[in-house]
Amino acid sequence: MSQRYYLEQPPVDDRATLTTTEAHHLAHVMRGKVGEQVTLFDGVGHEFQARIERIGKHDVTLAVLSQASVDRELAVPITLGVALPRGDRQAWLVEKLVELGVTSLVPLETARGVAQPTDKALERLRRGVIEASKQCGRTRLMQVVDAQTWRDFVSQGDVNAARLVAHPYAPAVETTFWTAPPSAGFLFAVGPEGGLTDDEVESAREQGWQVGALGERILRIETAAMVLAVWASRG
Ligand code: SAH
Repeated sequence: MSQRYYLEQPPVDDRATLTTTEAHHLAHVMRGKVGEQVTLFDGVGHEFQARIERIGKHDVTLAVLSQASVDRELAVPITLGVALPRGDRQAWLVEKLVELGVTSLVPLETARGVAQPTDKALERLRRGVIEASKQCGRTRLMQVVDAQTWRDFVSQGDVNAARLVAHPYAPAVETTFWTAPPSAGFLFAVGPEGGLTDDEVESAREQGWQVGALGERILRIETAAMVLAVWASRG
């Protein structure tokens, strides 16, 4: 795959402009030159072939040569609510979820959660989404939505989706759960390292969520999230 850059603003009259981080990446990290061809994507499903026309101090202008709608998304959407792990493991989680095609990530506020989904943390995660999308060829950005409380997440999710709380102390998820998912897709919830409280598990059950285990061993948050994304996307 050729070099890809994220285009924040749609092209105007077949001219595209990269600014800030993307301009810096093209001009200084990749040492792009006027006349070279690169791929741009707009995060909402379009890809552009473009030729570098001008490299400014803070921006790069390109001539758009062609445009295409490119769909590299999953057959059904996956929304994943996660009590964020700490530090570097957050970045790793986001990178892998983007690669695996997850549609939307919802940072969850839980009773035993440790990492606070501050604005700064969310900003960092959204930047991670762009970086991973550039690398893996995704044309739509995984949404990192604002943090939600556990209660809101389990009560407001789409009831037509296949909804599952991953919980090590429940019976194993039935294999039929993964097959023939509804068009509303999957809605998953993963708890913090300290685990979900009985109240949290119960409140999800009351809202009609399934509660199930992904195996006999206790997984890290990000491993549980990977398993969910992989199993849900293989159909
Ligand atoms: N010490 C905690 C472990 C939490 S692991 C406890 O005893 O609950 C973090 C989260 O990953 C859990 O809340 C759960 O959502 C998910 N998880 C970990 N292992 C799992 C398993 N075997 N099955 C399903 N979910 C699991």
